[in-house]
Amino acid sequence: MPEYANVIIDISHEKLDKIFQYRIPAPLQERLTVGMRILIPFGLGNRETAGYVVGLTDEASYDPEKIKEIKGIVPGSVPIESQLIALADWMRKNYGGTMNHALKAVLPIKQKTAEKKQRFVSLAIGQEEAAGQLALFEKKHYTARARLLSALMRQSPMPYEAVVVKMNISVAVIRAMKKMGIVSVEEKRLYRSPFGEIRQEEKRVTLNEEQQRAVEAVWQDWEQGRRRTYLLHGVTGSGKTAVYIALIERVVKAGGQAIVLIPEIALTYQTVARFYQCFGERVSILNSKMSPGERYDQFERASQGEVDVMIGPRSALFTPFSRLGIIIMDEEHESSYKSETQPRYHARETAIARAGMAGASVVLGSATPSVDSYYKAKQGEYLLLELESRIEEKPLPACHLVDLREELKKGNRSILSERLQGMMEQRLKNGQQVMLFLNRRGLASFITCRSCGFVPKCPHCDVSLSQHNNGRAVCHYCGYEEPILEVCPKCGSGYISGFKAGTQKIEEVVRAQFPKARVLRMDFDTTRRKDGYERILSAFSSHDADILIGTQMIVKGHDFPDVTLVGVLAADLSLHVSDYRAAERTFQLVTQAAGRAGRGELPGEVVIQTYSPEHYCMKLAKSQDYKKFYEMEIAYRSLMHYPPCGHMMVMLVASEDEMTASLSMELLAGKIRQAMDGGKLQGLSVIGPASPPVAKLKDIYRKVMYFKHGGYEELVGIKDVLEQFVGRHREFAKVSVQFDFDPMGGF
Ligand code: ADP
Ligand code: ZN
Ligand code: ZN
Repeated sequence: MPEYANVIIDISHEKLDKIFQYRIPAPLQERLTVGMRILIPFGLGNRETAGYVVGLTDEASYDPEKIKEIKGIVPGSVPIESQLIALADWMRKNYGGTMNHALKAVLPIKQKTAEKKQRFVSLAIGQEEAAGQLALFEKKHYTARARLLSALMRQSPMPYEAVVVKMNISVAVIRAMKKMGIVSVEEKRLYRSPFGEIRQEEKRVTLNEEQQRAVEAVWQDWEQGRRRTYLLHGVTGSGKTAVYIALIERVVKAGGQAIVLIPEIALTYQTVARFYQCFGERVSILNSKMSPGERYDQFERASQGEVDVMIGPRSALFTPFSRLGIIIMDEEHESSYKSETQPRYHARETAIARAGMAGASVVLGSATPSVDSYYKAKQGEYLLLELESRIEEKPLPACHLVDLREELKKGNRSILSERLQGMMEQRLKNGQQVMLFLNRRGLASFITCRSCGFVPKCPHCDVSLSQHNNGRAVCHYCGYEEPILEVCPKCGSGYISGFKAGTQKIEEVVRAQFPKARVLRMDFDTTRRKDGYERILSAFSSHDADILIGTQMIVKGHDFPDVTLVGVLAADLSLHVSDYRAAERTFQLVTQAAGRAGRGELPGEVVIQTYSPEHYCMKLAKSQDYKKFYEMEIAYRSLMHYPPCGHMMVMLVASEDEMTASLSMELLAGKIRQAMDGGKLQGLSVIGPASPPVAKLKDIYRKVMYFKHGGYEELVGIKDVLEQFVGRHREFAKVSVQFDFDPMGGF
């Protein structure tokens, strides 16, 4: 039984760091849990104050004699903060890091910045009396007072600012009239609405049979009080959003609230407008461009019950809804659902944990579900719902694979194959649009033979080697390295090198080849401005350009009915990164890109250019056969014990000093090996230590080590032991040790 409770008094940014310790009286020891709201004596006067339990421990953090005792648990319903604190505790346990990091991620934190309040001046007397006063003022030539009064008789209340600035009425005049009891001045909290004006009329659709079936499956459970996790697998354009909306409508009608998670990149005007059309002012959105104040406003509205639906990226998961009934997670396979800062949580697992605490259902949706989720659906952990056809029976686009090795043989060194060029020409002639997609990712570049497609792989980990600046080919998992080859070992050609291509270069090539075409480019550079992304999308959707070139960004969230051709320029760019998820990610990207073609009246076509046309990922992306892809992929994962067939944890050790980083890592690795040699940690295998893809980041040196085990809990246990070890030894004072579970790109 823990003896002490760590408690926070207030939920504001600075105060989260102040944790107070209290003794747990014996009768409460079995009942007290993290998140509970309790009463404690606080301060010099021991004033009775409410606080939240954020941790339970046996260790007193100072003189036990001086630790005060908890008075009791606040009775009544559980406030939403309690639930979120419990969720933070769950996150800390499952992903590592401190309770503070976790609390800061989940709590709607008050900012120090002044709340934006607006003052209003209103008429405090009736119209008749006002008319009398007005005559009086006019008679006395009190022109300012008369002006304000007559304005208020027409419109009340009026913003204070407008009265002072626009009507040029002095503060003294307002004060005087207030004193006379003619006007009143009130402050109203102003919520900064994230919406501009949304006009666009959404046609209300009648669900087709498949959609209806999916909705009913979830709804029947919901009505009978069963809450679970569903995986909605629906091809692109099968109408998943309409399913989400129908479900939310029912949940809201039954008194529940809904959180809709959408990756930021797909959170476009078009998408938001569809929800707005159905739920009007009862829907709110979050995005990463909002200031902390704006975000807090939205959370505040949510906790006041002014909102039923919150839409946003990962962090919208922590919306303080007290009647949460359903969590929707669209594009559930997206890697942006994994936090890359502490706490390194995955929004999917965290959503399921929160839903469990709140009594809500979770619907995960995707055209290309993550292998993790599909595996769980197959195991019966999630319920699989499928939408197999596109709306209005629109055919999926026809896909062509182009072998880039053949192009080289033909003497074509352009990034555009002859086939793609020909098809582009034809579209331009017919006034149709083309999208060219480059699925590059990160900085790491892989090595390939452009003549035969050979890619050197790590003999231990079966992932591709990456080219490093030191002229060596390196495995990012285990640190294995070899010199970069000058001649291909398979075909003897000298065309073996690191593969690099950028969107800018492609734009040049396209402009040179098609001088008359209007070309837009969308990548990190052209979207840096606040509205850059929307601007380019809307220009392309109103057909102000013929060709759109871009990265991942262009494949999400928008319907372009005139696009009849999508070119995936070098599908290998994401296939050969050293990451066990490379094939999964490539399949997803190619399928999503292909899904952009043929969404209007005209059928679409897709060209996938690759050096590895024989790879199952390419073949199955061509036939858009997700189920077959899953089977192939799960066989590889199972053979290599990669997630979901087993679990993986990365430990990062980082320090400003390279030597300190290395030595600390050695110390930790030694401790693990010692335990393993002693016969402990059955079933654990370790890889590394090694240098991560980014071995030095902002002058901090980094080392990683990978742990594989069949059970997640076992890895969490190892993390706990290592965290405690680090906490107890002074050698680690200047290093940061972090963990990442089932990494999606990782450190
Ligand atoms: P997904 O998210 O599965 O790719 P969407 O939900 O974006 O698909 O739907 C694709 C298009 O089909 C949208 O324009 C949507 O308005 C339309 N749509 C969805 N359901 C129906 C329906 N039952 N009848 C007619 N049109 C529909
Ligand atoms: Zn070769
Ligand atoms: Zn390796």
